[in-house]
Amino acid sequence: MKNLSLTVAGFLGCLTVLAQSPSDGSISSTIQVSQVEAHVRFLASDALKGRDTGSPGLEIAAQYIASYFQGYGLQPADSANGYLQSVTLFRESPPSEAVLSFQDQEFLQEKDMLILAGDSTTLEGPAVFVNYGMPEDLERIDLEGKIAVALMGRPGDTNPQTAFFYSPEKRANIAEAGGVALAELYRSAQMPWSLIVNYLNSDQLKVQSPKSDQGIPFLWLNDGQSNLGSLFEENSGEAASLSIGAKNREEVPTQNVVAIIPGTDPELKEEYVLLSAHYDHVGVNAKATGAQDSIYNGARDNALGTTALLSAAQYFSENPPQRSLLLVAFTAEEKGLLGSQYYAQNPLVPTEQVVFNLNTDGAGYNDTTKVTVIGLERTSAQEAITSASESAGLEAIMDPVPEQNLYDRSDNVNFAKQGVPAVTFAPGATDFGPEIMKYYHQVSDEAESLNFNYVEKYCEAFVQAAENIANLGEAPVWQEGDKYEEAGKQLYGR
Ligand SMILES: [Zn+2]
Repeated sequence: MKNLSLTVAGFLGCLTVLAQSPSDGSISSTIQVSQVEAHVRFLASDALKGRDTGSPGLEIAAQYIASYFQGYGLQPADSANGYLQSVTLFRESPPSEAVLSFQDQEFLQEKDMLILAGDSTTLEGPAVFVNYGMPEDLERIDLEGKIAVALMGRPGDTNPQTAFFYSPEKRANIAEAGGVALAELYRSAQMPWSLIVNYLNSDQLKVQSPKSDQGIPFLWLNDGQSNLGSLFEENSGEAASLSIGAKNREEVPTQNVVAIIPGTDPELKEEYVLLSAHYDHVGVNAKATGAQDSIYNGARDNALGTTALLSAAQYFSENPPQRSLLLVAFTAEEKGLLGSQYYAQNPLVPTEQVVFNLNTDGAGYNDTTKVTVIGLERTSAQEAITSASESAGLEAIMDPVPEQNLYDRSDNVNFAKQGVPAVTFAPGATDFGPEIMKYYHQVSDEAESLNFNYVEKYCEAFVQAAENIANLGEAPVWQEGDKYEEAGKQLYGR
């Protein structure tokens, strides 16, 4: 591992001192397009190689953010290492080999099957066909010591995604009935085997959960020819064996970057508004060849949001609001919201003192007159956010694609689940169409393709929204009936 203090010194040495333009202290005079552009260009530069979690590029980005927090004189949080909160993640690679033998057939890892859960093992036992493996299917079957072979998913729902999410329950039921492994027959027109292998047979990063893999092995068998159901049903009870090779597990050290700006009101300063943005992205495309661009620069996703957070750090260091501010740049969002999950489990300010989370993240924009606020209508901060956007010359609009469930797919959800009213501020997107997809998780998401005058306005709107919320007389609450309303009442005891 690199010597961090040397890295910091190096960066402080090369931070350019930007010419000070006359500022009257207002948001619009503090946030300058030159500074905004400089942040985005640095964070999205090829030098940081796509800011992949665990990579030196992401570590440099963390040092960059921490250096600015320090330069602006922000306060570190207690028990953080300076501005850094260490986050240790665990990378698990799939077993290099595995084989299921039944009758005269051998099913091989990757080619014919995918081990989705379970540790290295060798086991033998009759393979028993259990239909969908629903509780009512299991009632009539003696599974003690047997390998259960089931149809994927549930009756009437064989979508691979929902089958995957349902699998822990099915796996637990099979284990409770005495089964020693669960094999599901995979068949899907929308997601062919090669695609699912690509997607699932890869390294996974997780926040440590040591007990997660102590259940029975769970695997998918490729049933593309649709003949395995009858094979296992007709020969149900015949001998089978399963062997799973070792998985490779390693620790991946990474970090959230955290700072505090104390509020000015003697009472309200006990309450915090959490301003957040993930600063990681997805790294490089290892399969790119020759002169092909291989770097996912992530200018929109989320150098832009990180820049909004740095703009907030700059402005509020001189103009603190009544409530205190907690600024957090999250790692590993792209790996499954892991940095925010870790932070939510290991908060540096008691969560019940955090009254709101204003997160910024986004795929891209197709309308530079707007900001899209995911969750805008779900909290009583709606007016504070709408008027803030207006003062920056932008219209705040609601999530244009609620069916995509974006609210539950960004870092805000890890706080919403705990009851903290939360929204994600995103660049103006009126749909999730071609103009967004052109850049979303593509190597073309580069700084050169951004409209920096818009980025500046976006940052101003974000900072103004933060100021409005941090100065509200009453802390924002969930709208009545929201699915997180009850969690909010529990958290704040009101
Ligand atoms: Zn993002």
